[in-house]
Amino acid sequence: MELYKSTIHELHELLVNKKISSVELTNALYERIDQVEDQVKAYVTLDKENALAQAAKVDAKIAAGETIKPLAGVPGAIKDNISTKGLRTTCSSKMLENLNPIYDAHVIKNLRADDTIFLGKTNMDEFAMGSTTESSFFKTTCNPWNLTRVPGGSSGGSAAAIAAGEAIWTLGSDTGGSIRQPASFNGCVGIKPTYGRVSRYGCVAFASSLDQIGPITRDVTDAAIVLNTICGVDGHDSTSLPVEVPDFTKALKQDVKGLKIGLPKEYFGAGLDPKVESEISKAVEQYRAMGAEIVELSLPHTEYAVITYYIIAPAEASANLARFDGVRYGHRNMNATSAPEMTTLSRTEGFGSEVQRRIMLGTYVLSSGYYDAYYKKAMQVRTLIRRDFEEAFKQCDVLLTPTSPVVAYPIDGKMDPLSIYLLDVCTIPVNLAGLPGISVPCGFVDGMPVGMQLIGKPLDEETILRAAYTFEQANDYHKVIAPIGGDK
Ligand code: GLN
Repeated sequence: MELYKSTIHELHELLVNKKISSVELTNALYERIDQVEDQVKAYVTLDKENALAQAAKVDAKIAAGETIKPLAGVPGAIKDNISTKGLRTTCSSKMLENLNPIYDAHVIKNLRADDTIFLGKTNMDEFAMGSTTESSFFKTTCNPWNLTRVPGGSSGGSAAAIAAGEAIWTLGSDTGGSIRQPASFNGCVGIKPTYGRVSRYGCVAFASSLDQIGPITRDVTDAAIVLNTICGVDGHDSTSLPVEVPDFTKALKQDVKGLKIGLPKEYFGAGLDPKVESEISKAVEQYRAMGAEIVELSLPHTEYAVITYYIIAPAEASANLARFDGVRYGHRNMNATSAPEMTTLSRTEGFGSEVQRRIMLGTYVLSSGYYDAYYKKAMQVRTLIRRDFEEAFKQCDVLLTPTSPVVAYPIDGKMDPLSIYLLDVCTIPVNLAGLPGISVPCGFVDGMPVGMQLIGKPLDEETILRAAYTFEQANDYHKVIAPIGGDK
């Protein structure tokens, strides 16, 4: 097997047994990037020199007989809205085209402490707003399973990089589905941890009450390994939870006997592609055969989740993005004749149309006279949605749903924003309720990967990891490679 197709746990074994060096591995990844990046366009920035220097340090540690961490020397990539000191962080926006952060995000500090390697920064929808990676200022990423299809979004670059063999692991961020949906479109594993599990410090804020960083990987074991490194309390994030972080790899047991899996009927309704539904149903039957108990139940407020999210998320975005005013940092128009004109022109030039649309929506729902009718009402509905989950978890241990009602669709600009928003129906409620959710590959429709979502109780990542692992080990979906670059 080629090195670039391997998993973190396989490569760790090869590194500690001195079968390969980290420099060799890192070079293999850049060779792969040279081979396919023109077609996939997963990256905004590459950082070869620093990556190789870091790899050499890991090799020296191994040569000196030091024990290394599971992620040490294994090259990954970081979504471009996560701050990396000295390495350009653009949010795929013209606004931050030349921003070189002066500090590392909390997750980056943790990863550096474990001696991991950053190949570069991955493409995304501008400021993480979108589901296709088409709103990037720089380029549209293509889906390695079919280059004419979207890779999903907003972490489309991070997921496509895994599917194309351009990184061994990546980080994404998930506000309404941006880790799970691209993971599903690219046949990867993606997990959004419980809100507060991972520090948001250094992740450029989109909607602060929903944003969460998480891994995109080839298999569930790798997801658990990355989680072990990035989770944990952080004084720089007031919403970071002061709870102990378990060793998530210990949860990876093949056992779902007696596990109660809830199927919320609202997630299997209108809009769900029947071919996707059929793959999900097969997975349900497999779980049943493996000894899980299937419970049909209802999350009655699901139909209000998308509209609630598209009030709350833009409201928070409009406040968070107010800081990009052409004064403190970011793009500045140099021809304006007054300060207000400078700010207006800087923002209209610096932000793309999707970001401007969200800022306008958000400003509208927060303005006096409309606040009670829209924002306050949305916050009340958010509580009802959270309570739905609390009730459901009295009857089951995990919930099983499709990750997306459809597979990756063509990059042809034919989808209008509203239709795209509506496709977030399966992932958004999980963010509104702050719960952990994982997407695992569970089949194919017309050659495109299908993802199954498992939703857990607050802080119970372990149960969804166990359920996902059990399913993965009983199948081969995670071993099928995207047909790019002549691979079979
Ligand atoms: N697709 C959703 C949106 O456009 C989710 C984005 C995200 O999770 N960052 O807002």
